[in-house]
Amino acid sequence: MIAKPPVKQMARYNSILLVDDDPTQIAILTAYFASQGVTGIKSAGDAARALTILAEEQAAFDLVVTDLQMPNMDGLEFLRHLKEQNFTGSLAIISSVQENLLEHAGRLAKLHGLELLGQIHKPFTKQTLDEVLFSTPVIAESRVAQPEFETTPEIFEQAILDREFVPFYQPKIDMKTGRITGGEALARWFRVTGERVYPDVFIRFAEKNDLIKPLTFCLFDQVLDDMRTFMAIDPDLQIAVNLATDLMMDISLPSELRDKVHQAGLRPDNISFEITENSVIDLDPTTLEVLSRLRVADFEVAIDDFGTGSSNIQVLRDFPYSDLKIDKSFISDALENSFSRQTVLAAVALAHDQKMRIVAEGIEDRKTWDFVRDVGIEYGQGYFMAKPMSADDFREFVRSNPNGLEWLAEQSAA
Ligand code: C2E
Ligand code: MG
Ligand code: MG
Repeated sequence: MIAKPPVKQMARYNSILLVDDDPTQIAILTAYFASQGVTGIKSAGDAARALTILAEEQAAFDLVVTDLQMPNMDGLEFLRHLKEQNFTGSLAIISSVQENLLEHAGRLAKLHGLELLGQIHKPFTKQTLDEVLFSTPVIAESRVAQPEFETTPEIFEQAILDREFVPFYQPKIDMKTGRITGGEALARWFRVTGERVYPDVFIRFAEKNDLIKPLTFCLFDQVLDDMRTFMAIDPDLQIAVNLATDLMMDISLPSELRDKVHQAGLRPDNISFEITENSVIDLDPTTLEVLSRLRVADFEVAIDDFGTGSSNIQVLRDFPYSDLKIDKSFISDALENSFSRQTVLAAVALAHDQKMRIVAEGIEDRKTWDFVRDVGIEYGQGYFMAKPMSADDFREFVRSNPNGLEWLAEQSAA
């Protein structure tokens, strides 16, 4: 018997677009979402109309629910156009096609990089809808891509001074107990123009223009402020902060970070660092000293994105990391792809042999959660449990789950 998460933990949708050529299905789904408290429900009788609505007000939709068999443009073609329009909200596919075709449609959506919640076979019941659409306790952070991102070093520097860069927090969960152990601080840029820009775009810009240190410190100061309010709820929370490789050449960094943590009245074990490697770290004395001094100051230091290009086994041998974070690309398809699965297993064996703890990022569904827990990985992060959220939402998330995500533990035991 699967225990469902309580209502207050369910996903929140503000606005939904339903795409189906059958008016009866639209009516049923509209009634269903309305009963879940969703107020912004729009519908389109064909895919072309849906694309027009999305192009006009894309930012407004955090969920699209689509049929596959529709006249003129079918659902598979619609998925491709969704991708081309940079739709970054969530997606669900509802159809009466054969089960394995429905699965392939899901795979195609994922290959396009769309955020698929799942597939639902018609005829559906309220329970099957609940399972796919409301089983993830996601606090939606609906992304709108900015392919035409433009800035200058001057604008960027001013944005740092104006604190337009803000940390969001993604909860980190203890895989055995479901407890919230803390979170990872992930940078977001709220521009005066109203755009929200994501770090995969601007971190590189900061690195190239010698602005990564002021950016990191701007975020770090805010993390320390936020931490004080988080710790009023749970004094043992630990927040992970990402540090770019370039900073590993800055010999003064460890003492500057340590002093800031002390001044904020926090303990070093309230903060950990993740070293994100955009370029290969050379085994040079400065980097080794910086990393070692962070450890000597009692900070935990994780190697991030393990298994990808520059973050590999050799780095693990050469530097004193305490934690290993397996890249999400291996976790998210570990169940379907045997290479990914074997990479995860090898990383677990290696890390445990070296007395390192492991974090899995990119857990997107229940099956992956079960796999990650069963192979002995200690901590997990992923959309299945929670997406990155604002400091206020994170505080509320911790406050409303004092015993951790109980629905996870209950389901696991079932
Ligand atoms: P990362 O450190 O590996 O962080 C994890 C990324 O995976 C985050 O993307 C997070 O939102 C995303 N993620 C978490 N769970 C899932 C999931 O279940 N599925 C999928 N598809 N994605 C998931 P985000 O926030 O866009 O950050 C991207 C990268 O930007 C980070 O990767 C990190 O390398 C870098 N970054 C973010 N903030 C900072 C910062 O303050 N300083 C530096 N140097 N780098 C940062
Ligand atoms: Mg990270
Ligand atoms: Mg990563």
